Amino acid sequence: MYDTVIGLEVHVELGTKSKIFCSCPVVKGASPNTCVCPTCMGFPGTLPVLNAMVPELAIRAGLLTNCEITKRSVFDRKNYFYPDNPQNYQISQLYAPICRNGYVEIDAKNGKKRVRIREIHMEEDAGKLIHAQDGTTLVDLNRAGVPLIEIVTEPDMGSGEEAVSFLKRLRELLTYADVSDCRMQEGSMRADVNLSLKPQGSRTPGTRTEMKNLNSFTAVIKAAEYEAERQRTLLERGERVVQETRRWDEASGQSFSMRGKEGAADYRYFPDPDLPPLVTDEETIERIRTGLPESMQDRQERFVKEYGLQEKDAAIIAQAKPLADVYEGAAKLSGLPAEASKWIIGPTMRLLREHGLAADEMPFSSEHLAALIGLVRDGRISRNVAASVYEVIFAVNGDPENYVAEHGLSMNSDEGSLRTLIEGVLKENQSSVEDLRNGKTRAFGFLVGQVMKASGGSADPKAVNRILKEVLG
Ligand code: ADP
Ligand code: MG
Ligand code: ZN
Repeated sequence: MYDTVIGLEVHVELGTKSKIFCSCPVVKGASPNTCVCPTCMGFPGTLPVLNAMVPELAIRAGLLTNCEITKRSVFDRKNYFYPDNPQNYQISQLYAPICRNGYVEIDAKNGKKRVRIREIHMEEDAGKLIHAQDGTTLVDLNRAGVPLIEIVTEPDMGSGEEAVSFLKRLRELLTYADVSDCRMQEGSMRADVNLSLKPQGSRTPGTRTEMKNLNSFTAVIKAAEYEAERQRTLLERGERVVQETRRWDEASGQSFSMRGKEGAADYRYFPDPDLPPLVTDEETIERIRTGLPESMQDRQERFVKEYGLQEKDAAIIAQAKPLADVYEGAAKLSGLPAEASKWIIGPTMRLLREHGLAADEMPFSSEHLAALIGLVRDGRISRNVAASVYEVIFAVNGDPENYVAEHGLSMNSDEGSLRTLIEGVLKENQSSVEDLRNGKTRAFGFLVGQVMKASGGSADPKAVNRILKEVLG
């Protein structure tokens, strides 16, 4: 019997406006090579200047994961050639990373468990290669110099599920602290899974393999299962596991050997002579600690206190910061926090599911949600109409006011036109009017129904009731 042992290396793109060593903007989806300059294209003679937001966010990450912050942190060059790496080295940290010796508490099978953080270091991302249909390869350097932190854990996880539990907790901490949006599907959080097996009870670590750049929770779980099974088969046959880097192929559900594992010595690391050591004093660390944005836990509790939400509703709404932001924006703008929570808990969660979106991919804005709530509050559309409008405009974040106007969905509460309509209906339904006078109150409901029908459903039912009563005396 073997135990699975997993350690993670997690790359997280920091949510800064500009790159780590130059002032080029960081823009997702920009045309290739439009966010570049001589520095991030590796031209000779250029010099890196550290973006002050990078250590700021890296230290936030360290404080949230109970790390020690390094007082004198150093950038090193990691030397290698690759076409997406124009400098021929990556500026990273080896000897004195910004954070060390932390831990994160995760939910595991048997309750809480601590996963130790070995270190967090800062580094720059590489560009991207685009392999075209005709066999040519193009390079896009927009991503070159985008700031990253790499979070390295100790081998403390015992299954793919525990690894995912760790990644979810990390995402919660980092998104709430505005360190990163941690969107795995967009590559702003990617995990390398190191996995080995060891005989149950043994203290000697087994030989591990590393699977690079897994970009979904499902991939982490499947890759870990596959790799544990592959290693088990080898060991049971009396063969050796080779330490190597493997590529996980989502489509075939298998991993393939990429290359033998390279060691630090292969990269000829040395301190970058162009960058001074980064000195962080106690005062700076305290300033960052006291300035940490609200955590998920605190936000949830505040939703209960400030907006009177049920605890379980607050937990659903606060599960992802983007969703919590839309809720809170709509609650404030509409002045109706309870209404806003109903719209999130019911229709929004259902629509997210139907569109295959995660809670952090909420496409609808708080302004538009507040507008929709306002239309119902002001009696301009009924709740039912509002619900169907939401279905249509949700995924495209359509403007509810425009949509209602363009489709003539506003309820008619115009006194004059309703009176005309009602008089017509009464004339044609003399017998029902007669019934009503003879005490058959059910006839009233019937008449309201006839008016609604005559209006094609556009009449405001409240107004119809009121005017009908007046007319009938
Ligand atoms: P390297 O520096 O060669 O990449 P490290 O010792 O720094 O190797 O570890 C890299 C990652 O591999 C860490 O996340 C660590 O937790 C994990 N790891 C180390 N040894 C093992 C092992 N025996 N089984 C599983 N993961 C391991
Ligand atoms: Mg490594
Ligand atoms: Zn640049």
